[in-house]
Amino acid sequence: MTFHDFNFDSKLTEGLDAMGFSKPTPIQEQAIPLVLKGKDLIACAQTGTGKTAAFLLPILHKIINTPEKQRRLNTLILTPTRELAIQIDQQIEGLGYFTGISSIPIYGGGDGAAWVQQKRALEQGAEIAIATPGRLIALIQMGALNFKQLQHLILDEADRMLDMGFYDDILRIIKHLPVQRQTVLFSATMAPKIRALAKTILHEPEQITISISKPAEGVTQQAYLAFDTQKMALLKEILTGQTWGTAIIFASTKEMAKKLDIELNRMGLLSKAFHSDLEQKEREEILREFRSKSLPILVGTDIISRGIDIEGISLVVNFNVPSDPADYIHRVGRTARAETTGTAITFINDKEQRKFMAIEELIGREIEKSPLPAGLGEGPSYTAKPVSNSYGKKKPFAHKRSNNKPSNKPRNSDKPQG
Ligand code: AMP
Repeated sequence: MTFHDFNFDSKLTEGLDAMGFSKPTPIQEQAIPLVLKGKDLIACAQTGTGKTAAFLLPILHKIINTPEKQRRLNTLILTPTRELAIQIDQQIEGLGYFTGISSIPIYGGGDGAAWVQQKRALEQGAEIAIATPGRLIALIQMGALNFKQLQHLILDEADRMLDMGFYDDILRIIKHLPVQRQTVLFSATMAPKIRALAKTILHEPEQITISISKPAEGVTQQAYLAFDTQKMALLKEILTGQTWGTAIIFASTKEMAKKLDIELNRMGLLSKAFHSDLEQKEREEILREFRSKSLPILVGTDIISRGIDIEGISLVVNFNVPSDPADYIHRVGRTARAETTGTAITFINDKEQRKFMAIEELIGREIEKSPLPAGLGEGPSYTAKPVSNSYGKKKPFAHKRSNNKPSNKPRNSDKPQG
């Protein structure tokens, strides 16, 4: 299948060519025809699958075919974070470059000028608004929005929005939207609360699931059993042992991220911490440096595990095992995007083994535990017993260690099974 099979307007195919997209990804193959038909849709897909273009392309095509006078605020996209809002806006700019369609990201935390710019773009008739729920409600209360012509509502990363406590805000926003509209909900998981939300706001939806429980092909996954006291030295060994290009180190808290960043800089490694205490401008600057590869190491929390799309990250290190197994998939999804390869390494201390076992159950395979490099001493032994969790059935694994060093080359044995 190629993009030509969708019969998109030529202005849109020009944008696709300019972006270098030639073949639709599986989520695009399935979602685009349904969105074009006007169906409500629940799509279960992780980031890295091409989900953004899966909803943007059909929406842009439909807007092109809407008379200009009826296009004003045609589509509202709700996202959990400002970073994701900016990223979607950039994809609209790329894909929609030749269409003349304009979009505006609406998020909090900016300065007064951003606020004025957001209001002005809306008044001037932007066709698409991409908003975080909190700021959108503020604008609604100011009477700055007119949803009369709204045709499409997209909820992106709906599970994340609910995790962040936006359930009531979403319902409040929806009360201001026309009842006659198309609603599309994207979520990485189909937790019961997502189903409940979908039931409330979608009308006879179609459902698509692109398996969440496997990191993208091309990610080499490894783990080390290490006591907390060994983790910093291990991180240094990994970062300096070979050339990685760009790397993201995930910490469980922003305090930990700040501490790791200080330690890495002390060791002479160039890194910056990315967390919610930073000003919006600082965050954008750090991401810009990281994207341009002038900053090789980014240290952060799960704020960067979802949605942020940066090409060519070759290494992801989980300094701690994430508590939610789904977060593991999101973190690991930062590497090996759009069919490239990458390595994801997780450090497991003596108390994190059960959490790691839950991850292995979710992804349906055991991840190789490599021995610690010489000089770091013995790490803890792997004693976790298989646990049952909401994601999968009990499944015993034969845990073994190997002598392999971290490698950024994919091996067949590291590819997701099944
Ligand atoms: P997403 O899952 O939307 O975050 O997209 C992941 C990455 O894949 C982004 O860098 C997109 O620009 C890229 N992408 C999306 N669709 C395609 C496609 N059909 N061909 C190549 N790259 C794509």
